[in-house]
Amino acid sequence: MGDQKPFRVIIVGGGVGGLAAAHAFEKANIDHVVLEKGEIAPARGASIGIYPHGARILQQFGTLKAVDDETYPIEKAKDLLPDGTVFANSDLFKFLRQYHGYPIPVLERRRFLEIMYEALSDKSAVKPHTEVVDIIDSEDGVKVVLADGGIEEGDLVLGVDGVHSLVRSLMWRNANTAVPGMITANEKKSLYADYSLLIGFSETKAEMSQSDLTCTHYPGKSFLVIGGKKHTFWFVFFKNERVHWPALPRWTKADAERRAAECMDCPISETQVFGELWKTAIRTELVNVEEGLFKHMFFGRVVLAGDAVHKMTPNIGLGGNSAMESIVVLTNLLNKAIKEHPQGKPDRAALQSLLTEYQKERQVRMRQFIDFSSLATKTQAWENLWYKILSRVIPFLPDDTFAKQASALFKAAPKLDFVPVPGNLKGTVKWDDEVLEIKNRKVISAPSLGEWTQSMLRWTVKPILSLCVMLSFLFVVRGSKASEVTESA
Ligand SMILES: Cc1cc2nc3c(=O)[nH]c(=O)nc-3n(C[C@H](O)[C@H](O)[C@H](O)COP(=O)(O)OP(=O)(O)OC[C@H]3O[C@@H](n4cnc5c(N)ncnc54)[C@H](O)[C@@H]3O)c2cc1C
Repeated sequence: MGDQKPFRVIIVGGGVGGLAAAHAFEKANIDHVVLEKGEIAPARGASIGIYPHGARILQQFGTLKAVDDETYPIEKAKDLLPDGTVFANSDLFKFLRQYHGYPIPVLERRRFLEIMYEALSDKSAVKPHTEVVDIIDSEDGVKVVLADGGIEEGDLVLGVDGVHSLVRSLMWRNANTAVPGMITANEKKSLYADYSLLIGFSETKAEMSQSDLTCTHYPGKSFLVIGGKKHTFWFVFFKNERVHWPALPRWTKADAERRAAECMDCPISETQVFGELWKTAIRTELVNVEEGLFKHMFFGRVVLAGDAVHKMTPNIGLGGNSAMESIVVLTNLLNKAIKEHPQGKPDRAALQSLLTEYQKERQVRMRQFIDFSSLATKTQAWENLWYKILSRVIPFLPDDTFAKQASALFKAAPKLDFVPVPGNLKGTVKWDDEVLEIKNRKVISAPSLGEWTQSMLRWTVKPILSLCVMLSFLFVVRGSKASEVTESA
């Protein structure tokens, strides 16, 4: 007899991925706990933008309306030369809304986390100020050791503890102990940073746009400014020499001030210079712009999602949306395995098989997202002459070119496959899963009267009619031949 405890997931990290996992597991009725070393929704980071594929997931969680109410959606995307002249003005975000039906809001990351936390039915499953320090993985379960000496026991550890992930390092240690040489030095170096990023936000003043995204290009540097209802978010990317994990530097306040001093008189919109935003900043920080995809997304009873395993540059704003996607894919697989298993508890072998499926799916899609984001980073910062030319050529392409590329990625996004998507936000582009559902429905469901008549026509009436026509044709020919013979006789 197996033990009667339900299958339990220990989620390490209460950021974007951790809170998304809490929502998804609540929906699937999967027992879980979220361990967060700091407070939930800390005053750190800048913004998060929600694209249609993330919005559909938030709709399933029931948090989309609160997110949309926070701000106005972005409308225009403008590109500026270093002297502040506009050289491109695109309706990118309007196109995306038209294609998928969802507006694209950008709000403060802390506010986003608050909304996600507040909407949870069972907040007692989220434990702030609970730091994980070790993981003991075994055949029939996993133990997570806490900084205060406590232990959490479960069946699976989900590491969504961000780009500096401790869970990832512990998983590597466990893997290389069990299977020497499994995680190579080269795999560990998959994470690197070519850029550093000065982030901040200021109050949106009356004279500032509340719905435009402006990118000002410089050689080896770029400014992104996103106007919102309450706040204007800004980002300055600086090209540096490449550094790999674990040598990624930690930047100080003095480093941030030094970088800001380099940019004071740089135009960042048609009417403003950077110094104006810097002086009114509510919060600022200098961070690395890491990117990288790790080959191993799981080992034993430990699986990774979000920035811990697929980190992309933030120029397009796909990282948080991708973390939510990975959570959805994992939840769908877990939900199925738990429901199919007689005791509701997939064993280690079943777990390995579903985690392999998770890894296979995520590797392909996250590679596309990381490359797409990286292209945006390089093009915005005129990394070399080629990217400068590219940025100047793009405005001559049809206005919807970039939107179509992004839409092709978004429409293939996953959603929770066991809960409906409430509301009816439809665009002109169908989601891939909708197209598949329609196809499957046609195969499985009973045909309508129209479909039945059509298929009867196709499979019975048409051949019978053709046969009749052929036979009549033969009779006519034979008849006329017979009369010819009679006449000649
Ligand atoms: C400037 C900037 C702008 C961005 N804009 C966007 C955007 O517009 N749209 C978008 O989709 N994405 C955006 N991103 C990316 C997005 O913020 C990340 O991809 C996303 O937060 C990743 O979620 P995560 O859960 O993997 O990690 P995080 O959200 O970083 O959460 C990790 C959590 O784990 C906790 N933790 C770490 N170690 C431990 C431990 N040992 N024990 C317990 N807890 C631990 C941390 O305290 C943290 O709360 C942006 C990123 C940056 C830097």
